[in-house]
Amino acid sequence: MRTLTRAVLAYNAFRKSIQDPAESIAPIGTVASGYSEKGPFRCDRCMHMTVYNTCHHPVVCNDPQVPKNRGAGEMGGAIVKPDACCTYFRNA
Ligand code: SF4
Repeated sequence: MRTLTRAVLAYNAFRKSIQDPAESIAPIGTVASGYSEKGPFRCDRCMHMTVYNTCHHPVVCNDPQVPKNRGAGEMGGAIVKPDACCTYFRNA
């Protein structure tokens, strides 16, 4: 069963790479922190996220591409979505 699942995942990835080759090799997320709302990890499982849906990682706080970024030191950091992630994800 596991082999079949891997085969299906590989086939789907192959199909996607054919449909949009530029998208399939492009890096995910913003330039500075890799913040992405497409996964694969989750901010709500990261040690840097607060109960107010804010992130206190300094790189994310200073990333101008993070949506609604209020910057480090102002009102508690950058606003992030629970199902987003970035390069600096760390398990909570
Ligand atoms: S995954 Fe990145 S953006 Fe999300 S809370 Fe963690 S450090 Fe912040």
